Amino acid sequence: MTLYPLFADLDGLPVLVVGGGAVARRKAKALLDAGARVTVGAPRLDVELAQWADDGRVAWRRGEFVPDWLDGMWLAIAATDERALNASVAAAAAARRIFANVVDDAALSRFHVPAVVDRAPLMVAISTAGAAPALARRVRETLERTLDHALGALVALAQRHRARIVQRRADLSGRRAFYDWLHDGPVLPLLRNARQREAERMLLDALDAGTAAPLEGSVALVGAGPGHPGLLTLQALRALNEADVILHDQLVSADVLALARRDAERIDVGKRCGGRHMPQERIHRLLLAHAREGRRVVRLKGGDPFVFGRGGEELAFLRRHGVACEVVPGITAALACAAFAGIPLTHREQAQSLCLLTAHGKDDADALDGRVLGDRRQTLAVYMGVERIAALTDRLLAHGRAADTPVAIIENGSLPRQRVIAGVLGELPALARMHAVATPALLIVGGVAACAASQAWFGELVVGNAPAMPAGRMPCEETA
Ligand code: SAH
Repeated sequence: MTLYPLFADLDGLPVLVVGGGAVARRKAKALLDAGARVTVGAPRLDVELAQWADDGRVAWRRGEFVPDWLDGMWLAIAATDERALNASVAAAAAARRIFANVVDDAALSRFHVPAVVDRAPLMVAISTAGAAPALARRVRETLERTLDHALGALVALAQRHRARIVQRRADLSGRRAFYDWLHDGPVLPLLRNARQREAERMLLDALDAGTAAPLEGSVALVGAGPGHPGLLTLQALRALNEADVILHDQLVSADVLALARRDAERIDVGKRCGGRHMPQERIHRLLLAHAREGRRVVRLKGGDPFVFGRGGEELAFLRRHGVACEVVPGITAALACAAFAGIPLTHREQAQSLCLLTAHGKDDADALDGRVLGDRRQTLAVYMGVERIAALTDRLLAHGRAADTPVAIIENGSLPRQRVIAGVLGELPALARMHAVATPALLIVGGVAACAASQAWFGELVVGNAPAMPAGRMPCEETA
């Protein structure tokens, strides 16, 4: 069966929904959203539909279906769970040349209601002609993920200035070039970034300018999260889909990179060359050079770009040089590692506050504020602490943290090779040594860390000196 795709303008038109349950209500709702005048016909209505009838949002034909209900209707939907009744609605509608849909019954339906991706006024409809609705749902999910939410606002803007666009771009090829610019250029990011007025100004200026200005490059500082691809934000995924070039850190996992546009150029700026990282200034210059060539650049960083990620310096540098930028936050290691180790960071019994800190380099470890370190009601999440774990432990003890303060090291948080090593502060350096903890690893210090031993649910769990076991088992459980 080949269906003819159709978008119907139902504004102000009477339509009939037969049925009074949840399915009928959903159908009525969609029809109301499209401006139709809805009559529901059923002996009884569910609570919400009854309320709508009371409020006058829908009209109610009370009783068993009779074909007369269809008089004057433009469309009908049969949404009861009685097949015979649905069939008689369909037959009566056909006799009156009214299009009818029977919910979940392609054979009885004269029109199908597609799965939609709604970016009104932009609307994408998906149908498998009833052959495999579950597949249509999958396609819908894919499109939901990839289509920018600002597209609706973009189409609305173009709609508002349609007359002017047609007037200023009278020839078809000029108009097409203009719409290409509108789709690929700076207007969409402005709308995405809640800068409606500037977006409109830019559209109008571009129209007046005659020829479309060459596309300017831009940089998105994108947080890739801790490594698990499911922890990317939708916005990050979209940025990866659109990127011409991606400059990423070493911490960014291969699984995340695999989601990026196939032909995007990938540059590993975290790679060590002769034992040294690429200097930050060189990264700045690379970002600038690619943006100035008109490319869409993604600067992809582990976790969140603004948490120990030097994203702030990059943003300041790029803004100073007039490059359009946006920042897409990511799930930072502290949040991800805690979640994946079953540690509620501000569990009310044990913590009032959370401090994200780094113990990178000897001087930094020594410079950490003693009051922060010593406050028992504060959870500490320590980044880059592995190399300095002995010095850090000494400082924590010196500033009043008890030797039996719970600690947890989460190595490779959220990745398949995740390990959680739980113990107490006094034994921390020994634990790290014994289990040869490697980077990336995050250290959590404070009462809440004790939860790991009973609540870790992902990867491997090691408690104190005990052998490793799959997380999710109680430490006291038999592992045989
Ligand atoms: N911007 C990043 C942090 C960069 S600093 C973020 O927001 O997460 C690098 C440090 O982050 C590592 O040394 C480690 O302490 C921590 N880290 C990052 N990813 C991690 C992971 N998957 N598991 C454990 N720690 C991680």
